[in-house]
Amino acid sequence: MSNTQIDWHQRAAALQIDGRPVIAGKRCDTVQGQRFDCISPIDGRKLGEVSRGQAEDVDLAVRAARAAFDDCRWSGRAPAQRKRVLLDFAARILAAQEELALLETLDMGKPIQYSMAVDVPATARCIAWYAEAIDKVYDEIAPTAANALALIQREPMGVIGAIVPWNYPMIMASWKLGPALAAGNSVVLKPSEKSPLTALRLAELALEAGLPEGVFNVVPGFGHEAGEALALHPDVDAIGFTGSTRVGRKMLEYAGRSNLKRVYNELGGKSAVLVFPDFDDLGRAARTVAGSMFFNQGESCNAPSRVLVHESIADEFVLLVKAEAPNYRPADPLDPSTVMGALVDEGQLRTVMGYIASGHEGGASAVTGGNQARADSGGYFVEPTVFDHVDNSMRIAREEIFGPVLSVLRFETEAEAIALANDSPYGLQASVWSSHIDRAHRVARALRAGTVHVNQYDEDDITVPFGGFKQSGNGRDKSLHAFDKYTELKTTWLRINSA
Ligand code: NAD
Repeated sequence: MSNTQIDWHQRAAALQIDGRPVIAGKRCDTVQGQRFDCISPIDGRKLGEVSRGQAEDVDLAVRAARAAFDDCRWSGRAPAQRKRVLLDFAARILAAQEELALLETLDMGKPIQYSMAVDVPATARCIAWYAEAIDKVYDEIAPTAANALALIQREPMGVIGAIVPWNYPMIMASWKLGPALAAGNSVVLKPSEKSPLTALRLAELALEAGLPEGVFNVVPGFGHEAGEALALHPDVDAIGFTGSTRVGRKMLEYAGRSNLKRVYNELGGKSAVLVFPDFDDLGRAARTVAGSMFFNQGESCNAPSRVLVHESIADEFVLLVKAEAPNYRPADPLDPSTVMGALVDEGQLRTVMGYIASGHEGGASAVTGGNQARADSGGYFVEPTVFDHVDNSMRIAREEIFGPVLSVLRFETEAEAIALANDSPYGLQASVWSSHIDRAHRVARALRAGTVHVNQYDEDDITVPFGGFKQSGNGRDKSLHAFDKYTELKTTWLRINSA
């Protein structure tokens, strides 16, 4: 059935929530039996109760993952066998598209059309891509002495702790699960307490696809409880973390305090877009910036939240962006025509409104938006908001807002634009708009960011690495490079007595 023919409200009313962990292949209660309410940001309604995992639940999950790894029930299978199971897992994700999309929208507030068209297919594609890749990754032989062979092999690392945020709950989980499981590891996933529902269903679908018990466990709970216990656990070999820079810092501390586990941090951003006066289609630049900024309510790590525009075209650009804003009117996320949904919770609403207030107080010019919307729905909505004449020292230019707030800064020279773009603790993404290949290339090279777009912002694919410079993290999700995070390189020297 197509997205528009489904009565999503009716489906939501009929939904049964199971918030219990999946450990060692089974749904189970937590040891202490504590729960917390799962509230929908769409209308403030309680969706159900979710288990509040503690250190002892994490320990059970890690033990299950370790047992599964040690007896080689998964790691010992040939890559082509793992591939078959993971392809089945991906197919089941697609078959459950409507249920998973509904859970994602109810849990974190994004429009149902995007949960259907983006989140579920991207999750399935990620799992399938790594499944397809794993039997094409060959070991290497180093050219060394005539009577010896050095064999360089990738081995699975062991138990991977995956800790993920709430903005793309399924996709972020799949960026860890895809490469980690394909490479033969066991995984314990701790989803965000703000959006735990789809992760729990993913674990069930993986079991149905034939993933052996204990290979993929999910413990829902809070960061300072289940998350901290997982990151500190001495039997976890690596942490694949996506979240804030503040918590990423803690991940490194936890590793130092425990077993020096590998820590891969994918953190925040304050990505800059540089628009030069020689770009020949300012309308397209404004449309793209607005589309990428307001997508997912601005709750994207790579949102282009700082636009640096040449003084000579800045007034025109600001008018063009302002004209785009009405296309992103917040509306009911369960309506299939909605493009702007709810912020994840009341706390995030307060944070975003606080940043908007700081923009006003700092002297930035309000262009459009700036208000809470649909307050009578009981949900947490904010209008698409644009500030002009922002100074790079203001909080709205320096800090990650994680809401639909765009800051426009003005520059006069190319050198000034590059300096402003790089004057940030973050370095996740950037974008250059220029019709001159020399300038585009020169500026792209000068920008300190993990991804630089030229004359576009929205291209993305599982085949290319995703990650940042500076305090946006280390390591890379997606692409074949992600296997580096979840495998160890082992060298075996073989003596050849052929003489
Ligand atoms: P967060 O750092 O608050 O939480 C992320 C996860 O860490 C959650 O599961 C949370 O429960 C857990 N956590 C929190 N405190 C913890 C602790 N002390 N110990 C262990 N775990 C803990 O981030 P968030 O608010 O969920 O997500 C938003 C952030 O994620 C933004 O900064 C955004 O830029 C970032 N993000 C980055 C990427 C990327 O690929 N670089 C992608 C998506 C989101």
